Amino acid sequence: MRLLIVEDEPDLARSLARALREDGYAVDVAEDGDEGRFKALENDYDAIILDWMLPVISGLEVLVDLRKKKRTPVLMLTARRAVDQRVEGLNAGADDYLAKPFDLKELRARLRAIIRRSAGEARDQIEIGTVVIDTWGKKITLAGQTVSITAREYALVEYLALRRGKMISRTELYEHLFDENEDSLSNLLDVRVSLVRKKLGADFIVTRRGQGYCIP
Ligand code: CA
Repeated sequence: MRLLIVEDEPDLARSLARALREDGYAVDVAEDGDEGRFKALENDYDAIILDWMLPVISGLEVLVDLRKKKRTPVLMLTARRAVDQRVEGLNAGADDYLAKPFDLKELRARLRAIIRRSAGEARDQIEIGTVVIDTWGKKITLAGQTVSITAREYALVEYLALRRGKMISRTELYEHLFDENEDSLSNLLDVRVSLVRKKLGADFIVTRRGQGYCIP
């Protein structure tokens, strides 16, 4: 899953990006509304964390322009008591909001919820044969045993599992699993797929040459 954080407070942007990368998300950061709008329209993010008060153009303007073109889930960050902002943000197409200062745990939960909702997946657990994916705890079990899996491997499995049965192109996977600073020409994706197959079974992820990857 690839996220965009649009936040002009450098400390907050940095600590948020670090925490979410530890969770296995690929994370891009924009420091003002104009850069945020550009990146949000240019790339297909799985979700956007969008601050309301931003230099150049506001988060609300970014949201309004985004909604003319894309349905990317948006979690807006608002000022503590700004009830009007929340209503206005939700009316403009925000999927959820969080008042500053917020708890990281709550942000993680709301983020997961808007991503799952947009993928049409309401449950916390996805079962594929004897593999159970816990999208809440970001854990995977195989025949009841917890599988030791890195956050980045988990992200690959979850992305494919939420789109089970669909062949997902390498380009789409690179778009969603790696951030703008990672080298998309390397074989990072193949390495990750082969590690997942070792852990969950050779047939867990299938490949069709030239088409991409799929969890059947
Ligand atoms: Ca701000």
